Amino acid sequence: MFTAIFLNKKDDGATEARLTRLDDTQLPTDGDVTVRIDYSTINYKDALAITGKSPIVRKWPMIPGIDGAGEVISSIHPEWKAGDAFILNGWGVGEAHMGCLAQRARLKGDWLIPRPKGMSARTAMAIGTAGYTAMLCAMALEEQGITKDSGDILVTGASGGVGSIAIAILSGWGYRVIASTGRPAEADYLKALGAAEVIDRAELSVPGKPLQKERWAGVIDAVGSHTLANAVAQTRYGSTVAACGLAQGMDFPASVAPFILRGVRLIGVDSVMAPKAKRLAAWQKLANDLDAAKLDRITHEIALSEVLGKAPDVLAGKVRGRLVVDVNR
Ligand code: NDP
Repeated sequence: MFTAIFLNKKDDGATEARLTRLDDTQLPTDGDVTVRIDYSTINYKDALAITGKSPIVRKWPMIPGIDGAGEVISSIHPEWKAGDAFILNGWGVGEAHMGCLAQRARLKGDWLIPRPKGMSARTAMAIGTAGYTAMLCAMALEEQGITKDSGDILVTGASGGVGSIAIAILSGWGYRVIASTGRPAEADYLKALGAAEVIDRAELSVPGKPLQKERWAGVIDAVGSHTLANAVAQTRYGSTVAACGLAQGMDFPASVAPFILRGVRLIGVDSVMAPKAKRLAAWQKLANDLDAAKLDRITHEIALSEVLGKAPDVLAGKVRGRLVVDVNR
């Protein structure tokens, strides 16, 4: 038997979420590795699944949890054996395949990556999909030729998981980072992570002109909608915006002017189906480059029994940084 968060769809279509005990027969059969989860997380997407605010779950019933870290219990996959330490991010886990907000999971070996040497399961989940996505965004900027000498980098949704870790990564690499937040009270927190300046997100979240004063040598945007449109309109000639999120909205009310008149590049970043080589590179860089003290500042640990109470706070933008979940509490 093991403990899990369990989601069911009620007759009226609403999501029913509860903490319950399950047995191994309730794990999916379409997996070749059975794992012990030590830590999981609550990402924005997990909060949407648990509250039913968005149709994230595509198969019922469901154990949510797009992220997990722990050890392999048994495996018929050639690359994995009992005792191996793994990380799981995405691949539709917690959406279409039972997820990791549980003490056990059955997953596909092709989805797992080895946990970098020296990285604990708790650290891996403090980083989680949000942090791994922040790294994919930072790597995307550098792949486009941006360096620490290029100029100011804007990070939106700064107090959230992606934003907080993006600031820590970029400032660690020597970039000058400007953090956009709706929570001015978090300015000291953002500066401690390495932000050089903090701006009010209201500057970006309302409709703006198609071309504005050129400010940014690069952007990591976790917010979408008008914020992304304004960020693109303020990006310097030939520079790059990495877009990964939709916290303000999924719309993109922009004009083509920055693309055709300034050669601005808009790069989409997806973590869910990212190929294994990219994941391995991102996690190795996280292991090497992310400052442990900064990650500690970003992380708040909760018990599995607290997950249902916390999920609405994530959607309400009340959670700062990352929530890591100890599934044994
Ligand atoms: P969080 O909830 O931790 O952070 C989101 C942040 O966005 C909030 O902290 C807040 O920052 C800001 N925000 C919230 N609501 C609004 C609003 N209405 N207008 C403007 N800003 C707002 O989420 P994550 O950091 O984990 O994820 C951020 C986004 O990235 C989500 O949309 C998520 O779905 C997406 N994502 C995408 C991935 C991918 O593969 N492409 C992977 C991971 C996440 P502040 O208070 O500082 O303003």
